[in-house]
Amino acid sequence: MIRPMALIIEQIPVLSDNYVYLLHEPEAQATAVVDPAVAEPVLERLEARGWQLTHILNTHHHGDHVGGNLALKRATGCTIVGPRADRARIPGIEVEVGEGDVYALGQAQARVYDVPGHTRGHIAYWFEADAALFCGDTMFSLGCGRLFEGTPAQMWASLAKLATLPDETRIFCAHEYTESNARFALSVEPDNEALQRRVAEVKSRRAAGLPTVPSTMAMERAANPFLRPFSPELQRQLGLSGGDLVAVFAETRRRKDSF
Ligand code: ZN
Ligand code: FE
Repeated sequence: MIRPMALIIEQIPVLSDNYVYLLHEPEAQATAVVDPAVAEPVLERLEARGWQLTHILNTHHHGDHVGGNLALKRATGCTIVGPRADRARIPGIEVEVGEGDVYALGQAQARVYDVPGHTRGHIAYWFEADAALFCGDTMFSLGCGRLFEGTPAQMWASLAKLATLPDETRIFCAHEYTESNARFALSVEPDNEALQRRVAEVKSRRAAGLPTVPSTMAMERAANPFLRPFSPELQRQLGLSGGDLVAVFAETRRRKDSF
C-alpha cells in the first residue's frame, strides 16, 4: 500500500529563473533541499519554517544546481546525495544514487531515474506517494534541457521514461522557462488545443507574478513538443512526416536552440 501524501513542498525562486525546492517530511522531521543553487535563501526559509536541513538532493553538476552544497553542509551538517554517474563533479557528495535506487527521506521514498542528455550524469527523483517529480534540467514545462553532454537519442529515451509516470505527477523542474518555451511550442504545434489552453494559463499566471511550475505530467504529455515526436502536426511542421521519433525529437531540439 502506498502511504498518503505527506511531503510539504516549498518552492524558492533564486537567481534569475531557478527554482530550489524544500521537501519537509513532518513525521521524521526530515527536510531535503533539491538543487540548492545558493545557500542563503535556503537558510532563511529553513529558519522561517523552523526546519532542520537533513539532506541535499542534487540532480546534476551545473553550478546553478550545486552552488549552495558546501555552505549548506557547513551550516547544517546535512547529507549530500547525488548522481553516482557524476560523483566527481558533485561538490561534497556522500551518498551516490542511480537508476532503480530508492532513497528514503523519513517516511517518504524517492525512486531515482538516470536521465542523461542535458548532462551525462543527470538523475531525477520521483516521490510516487506524493505525486512529485524533481527532474532538474531534463524536462521543463513545455520544454526540455539543452543537450550539453548527451545525444538526442539519450535525451529522448530519458524523456520517454519520465513520460510513463502517472498523469497526476507534479513536475517540479528547476527553471521558470515556460513563457519562452510556450512561444517555441506554438511555432511547431500551432493547432494543439491543449497547448493553446496551457499558453493562456501561463500568460495569466506570469502576468499575475505567479509561477507556472509545477505543471503535471498529463499537461506535459498533451502540450510539450519534446514529449510529442509522434505528433503528426509537429512532424508536418518540421518536414519530417512519418520520421522516426529520435529524428523528430532531434530536429525539434535543434530548432529550439536557434529559435
Ligand atoms: Zn543544468
Ligand atoms: Fe539549471
